[in-house]
Amino acid sequence: MKKGPTEWEMRNIIMPLMLSGAKMLDRHCPKCGSPLFEKDGRVFCPVCEYREKQRKAEMKGVEEKLTEKLNELANSLPDDIDELEKHLRAMEKIIELLERYRKLEGGE
Ligand SMILES: [Zn+2]
Repeated sequence: MKKGPTEWEMRNIIMPLMLSGAKMLDRHCPKCGSPLFEKDGRVFCPVCEYREKQRKAEMKGVEEKLTEKLNELANSLPDDIDELEKHLRAMEKIIELLERYRKLEGGE
């Protein structure tokens, strides 16, 4: 299902762009239905660009937290073998997640 621009996106992304002198084209984004804009010879969809940036920022946030936790675990390895194994397993999971995130970040 297509998700068109929300009211918030209209007000905070599309409107300011129109005011900034970017040219609104009479074509629409096939992905979100927002009008496409042209600025400095470049045609783009401001809503998709904004959403993509948001998505990346969110992923960065998760990645940072995971990395933090991983460091925390690595800095507090227990002596007890059973505990150590649990610890390492948790670290392994985090590393797996990080790898998955990084792959997602690279592509669509
Ligand atoms: Zn779009």
